[in-house]
Amino acid sequence: MAELTCRYSSVQTMGTLDGPGVRFILFLQGCPLHCGYCHNPETRAFDGGKTATVTEIMAMVSRCRSYFGKKGGITVSGGEPLMQAEFVTELFKECKKAGIHTCVDTSGCILNGNIEKMLDYTDLCLLDIKMTNDKDYKEYIGCDMSAPLKFLQKLSEKKVPVWLRQVIVKGINDNEENVKLFNGIAEKYDNVTYTELLPFRKLCESKYEEMKIPFPFGIYPETDKAVIEKLTAFLTKTNK
Ligand code: SF4
Repeated sequence: MAELTCRYSSVQTMGTLDGPGVRFILFLQGCPLHCGYCHNPETRAFDGGKTATVTEIMAMVSRCRSYFGKKGGITVSGGEPLMQAEFVTELFKECKKAGIHTCVDTSGCILNGNIEKMLDYTDLCLLDIKMTNDKDYKEYIGCDMSAPLKFLQKLSEKKVPVWLRQVIVKGINDNEENVKLFNGIAEKYDNVTYTELLPFRKLCESKYEEMKIPFPFGIYPETDKAVIEKLTAFLTKTNK
């Protein structure tokens, strides 16, 4: 049988922001959502990017292995990695055989049998709870809020450790009430070990210009560090 291939946009060999330790990050191509602050709009089209087999990705991962140390490993991000769950399963199986820590960075927008299988080989999930009410999810993200909550429930059943994350945007979710709702979601599940708030940034603005598409959140200012610090003080799960 021919080896599975993925569509990916890029890789990062020394990532330190998406999971524990130093990591190899694979950005898969294709995402069904349209988050107003999407920082990787070039990864959304399903027919873009490059292709690679599991063997080819594992060769790239192996070259970085000496940097992983005890904590590091691979993070599959995107785009939306759940859309290529069969490939990620095969990749993670190979990582597990090689003793490499596996992490998926996702919006949790869909769930099916292939994704459930993938979770059996996933050591950690970085899950974005992008908003804390259904209206904002529909308006700014492009799915129902029930989708990531259903995904989180499945992560709980499968006992996959989770870090919950949310990007804070001034005028939309930069308030204490929102953080309380976010805490409430995190506290419901023992497998959520860590929560993090991230500032909205506009570094991606030039990508939108190059692609000649509007940047929906271009009208909002970047989020001040002080706001993140103030709201982070309300988080209840902050020990990694
Ligand atoms: S889930 Fe990620 S890749 Fe998809 S639209 Fe949102 S920010 Fe962009």
